[in-house]
Formats: sequence, C-alpha cells, structure tokens
Amino acid sequence: MQNDEDVTVYRMGPTCDLGDVEEGKTYIGRVQGFANFGTFVQLNDRVKGLVHKSNVRTNHKEKDTILVKVLNIRQNGNIDLEESTIPVYTVEMVEKKSTAVRLGELGTKVGRTVRIEGEIAQIKQTSGPTIFTIVDESGTENAAAFVEAGVRAYPEAELEDIVRIVGEVMMRNNQLQIEVDSLVILAGEEAEIVRDRIENALEERAEPGDIPFLVESDVLEKLKPEMRKVAKIIRKAVFSAQPIILRHHADADGICSAVAIEQAVTSLIRESGGDYDADYFLFKRAPSKAPFYEIEDITRDLDYALKDHARYGQKMPLIVLTDNGSTEEDLPSLKMAEIYELPVVVVDHHHPDEIVDQYLKGHVNPYHVGGDFGITAGMLGTEVARMINPSIEAVIRHFPAIAAVGDRSEAPERGRYLQIASDRFTEDDCKDIALALDYEQFWLRFNDGRELVKDILDIKGNNDRHRKLITLLVEGANLAIEDQMSASMPHVRRQTLGNGAELFLLDVEIHAHKFTFPPPGKTSGEVHDRLCRQYPDSPVVTIGFGPDFAVLRSRGVMMNIPRMVRELREEIPGGGISGGGHLVVGSIKFVEGMREEVLKGLIEKISLVGAGM
Ligand code: MN
Repeated sequence: MQNDEDVTVYRMGPTCDLGDVEEGKTYIGRVQGFANFGTFVQLNDRVKGLVHKSNVRTNHKEKDTILVKVLNIRQNGNIDLEESTIPVYTVEMVEKKSTAVRLGELGTKVGRTVRIEGEIAQIKQTSGPTIFTIVDESGTENAAAFVEAGVRAYPEAELEDIVRIVGEVMMRNNQLQIEVDSLVILAGEEAEIVRDRIENALEERAEPGDIPFLVESDVLEKLKPEMRKVAKIIRKAVFSAQPIILRHHADADGICSAVAIEQAVTSLIRESGGDYDADYFLFKRAPSKAPFYEIEDITRDLDYALKDHARYGQKMPLIVLTDNGSTEEDLPSLKMAEIYELPVVVVDHHHPDEIVDQYLKGHVNPYHVGGDFGITAGMLGTEVARMINPSIEAVIRHFPAIAAVGDRSEAPERGRYLQIASDRFTEDDCKDIALALDYEQFWLRFNDGRELVKDILDIKGNNDRHRKLITLLVEGANLAIEDQMSASMPHVRRQTLGNGAELFLLDVEIHAHKFTFPPPGKTSGEVHDRLCRQYPDSPVVTIGFGPDFAVLRSRGVMMNIPRMVRELREEIPGGGISGGGHLVVGSIKFVEGMREEVLKGLIEKISLVGAGM
C-alpha cells in the first residue's frame, strides 16, 4: 500500500487534447455513458476513453465524477482506462502544452510544416491567394491561403480573430510565408489563453529600454516617464501590426520631430517581419499646415483609415501628433477620433490646454513639468524615437539641433544639442537645413516628401547630394525672402505702445507676394527679426495681417497669445475669432468685416501687458 499523500491525480484543462494524456497517470473524469462492454469517461470536453467492464470497480450514473488510470493509448486514439479508488490524493491541473511554433522562429523552419497560433492583424485579398498577416508575441508573418484565384479563403476568419494555422514555411520573394493547409478560429477559453499569452508578451516586448538622454536636461528627466509611455504605445502598435498615422506641424521643428519617429518606427516595422513594404502601408506621415490637428486633417486620415480597413482588412490606426495636438484648437478633431476609438498620443511643446488630456493616451509636453517651448518638439521627438528604437540614433542625433535653431529655442538644451551635432554640422549648417526644410515643405504642400526630406536631413549619408541640395534650397529661400522683404519693409508702420513696446504693423495681403515662399507667417517672422535688430534695446511686437488673419511675433513682451485670443473671442461678439499658437508667437483668425475691431482690441491687450528688455 503506497502512502496516500504521494498520490497525484490530474485534471485536464479545457484546451487539452489527446497529446496531453499520459499513460500510467490517473485523471479525474466524468461518466459520459454506458455500453454493455464498459463505461465511457470524459477527461474533458474533447478527450474521452473507455473503462472496460472488467475494470469498473463501483456503480455510477451519468455525469458522476470518476477517477481513472490510463492503461493504454492506442494508435487510433482510443484510450483504455481503469477505474481507480484512491481515497486521498492531490489534484494537479494539466495545461495545454503548446507545440505552436513562434513566428520569430519561422526563419529556421523553411520547408517544414508548422503549427502557429496568433492574431489576424490584416487580411488582404490578392488576385491569387488570401494573405492573412498574423501577429504573435515574437513577430509578424504572412500566411497565404488559396481556394481559387482571387477568392477569399476562410471567409469566416475576421480581423483580430485568434487562429491556429498549420502549413508549410516557404520563402516567397525573399520573404517568409506560411502556405496554409488548415486555419481554425479559436474560440472561448482557448482563444483567451492565446490572446493573453500574446498580450502579456507584447506588453513586455513593447517596454522601451532605459537609455540616457543625448544631453543633460532637468525637464527631459521629469518628462521621462511620459516619454516612455508614449514610446511603449508606439512600439506596441508596431508589434501588433496596427497602422500609425503621424501628423506634425509643417515647419522645421515639426518635421524633425516627426522624421525622427518615422525613422524609429519604419526600421522597427522592417525588423519585426511581415510584408517587405509594410513600412510604407503601416506608417504614414503627413504635415499639418496649422500648428494643430485640423478637422480637414482628421477627415482625410479617417477617410483613408476606414477605406483601408474595409478594403485591405487593416486595423484602425494609432494617431501620433508631434509639434501639435495639445491645445483647445485640437478638440474638434480629437472628439472625432474618439468616435472611431482611434487612440491618440501627443508629443508637443505648445502651451497645453488641460481639456485635451481626456482624449489622449499619452501627452509629452514640457509645460507639464515646469518647462516651456524652448524644449522643442524636435528634441522631444528625437528622444522618444531613441526609446522606440535605439539603433537609429546615429541617423537622427543631429535633428534636435536643427529643430532648436528652427524654432529659435533659447533653452540651455539648445547649446547641448548643437554640441552633439557639431561633429557633422555647425550652427550655421543647422540653420541652413532648417531653412531648407521650411522652403521645401512649402513646395511639398500636403505631401510628406519622405525620401526627399531624408536627403535634406542627410539621413542617407549621401553627403555630396545633401550639400548640393542644401546650397540650392537655401539660395532659393534667401532670394525669395529678400524679394519679399524689399517689397514689404517700406510699408511697415510703427507705433509706440503705452507699455514702451514698439509695435509694427504690416498688411501682408497687399504689401507682400502671395501664394509663394515665404508665406505670411514666415514673412512676418523675417520682418520681425529685422526690426528686432533695428531696435535692439526695445521690446518689439510685429503683427502681419491679412483680410481675415493676423500673425504675431514678439520679443520682450509678456504675451500670452492663446489667452488673448480667448478673451477677444468673448469681448468681440461676431468677430469669428479663433487661433492660438505659442505664448509669444502665434496667429489669430477672424471674419473680414471685423478686422479693424479685432486688431484694435488685440493692440489694446498688447499695450497692457508687461514689457521690457
Ligand atoms: Mn515647434
């Protein structure tokens, strides 16, 4: 007689099958039914065996619990059982032994038939097979299923289903692919187990490495947790084959922030498998003309996303906003995103309005930790990009310096980032690149110019072409600016305000070239720079206005443009006022018929704030 305490009996988990049953072990079963040669016993919903009548020890009725020992598992899968009557024992659960191959290991299995389990991340119908893009905890690969040319295979399988696929691993056009023999949609607990396994592993895999920033910065240190959070959300989107739409302000700073993240994401997409051109259809970058996410922008993004979802079986995208996204002006678009449950993350340095945060999954903004716009979006974006994929550091480490001079940062980080870039670019080089970006973006309009911008930022390392391109673009930009200035400067009107500030007004509608470079905002900025040099000891405010807008630049005046805009909107009913931007650099829109009132109100407000050099 053996010691009762030592006896273990096993309970089969709901997903176990024949392969998990072991001869000689005792299981807890349930009586399923009777035949004249014995009793059928279920070990779980999928596995049953027979206790021959010679091996039945006690009386039972249907659904009784019964202990059975496995005597033999036959070739045909039949299981011979023997009833066991152990009075005391301990129970151990048998979990399904997953023999599925991880997608990350498929490269070593070419030519062999494998079983994989994962989530359907995309379903593309080609003129030949149906291509299912499958994601598991280790990677992304395609599975091709064929019934008939152009006909959808396994029409019951839908996006985000958990499936088990058996098929042969092949190389097609230098890409791994599984040729599907069978595809089963897992349901219930079985699907949950796989889903949890993938989710837990993804959660861990998406966690960014802990790397130091390129430069010393108290503000960045304080922002680190939120930056890591945003980096993790982006990494997770990549690993689960969720498309990413990156929207950014269409200026040098915005471009630097966005291209840094673009480099990190596209290289991560390529590293994690899937289609050879996945970095093109899973990642889209688009500039926004305004420094916020306009209705026009989200409408376009949603339109494409919904079509891609319907047509190519793509997941709905993650929206990443850089150098915009943190102000009240973004609200209408964020509300639209919410209706379609699009997750949105923001990396911005505009003065934030708290109200946006309820719509965001993550929001990196120096104002949240006592910093200001001097920590530019290009600095933030580059550091977040390094968290997303540290291997791209060498190609983006000069971006923050370009962003810093482009956005006229006066933060101490500016000099540190210029130092980082100085092995390749001087401060003047950085200014030239920033100007070239602004100039080229003007001609690109709503296009991202993905490859062209790489040459301007010298990502490709083709230094000769980069240099020629910068020289040409800077020459073109400067000629256009000179031309604009010689037309505009004689028409600038000066006025000394009560607070001692010099106010300059320019009607850019009638005293500047239209529809060419530099556009009104940049024109006003250039005018302002010249006036600041002419009046080095005075606070200076420059307003460039058109029929229904005004652009503001200031130095030495304690302006808060977003607040002024909000106040004017209340004080001038029928002004149709909106706008915003940074505290001291921004723009305001209004209706044409109210221009005089709005400008008068604006100037009054400016004359009331503190000014001094
Ligand atoms: Mn910026």
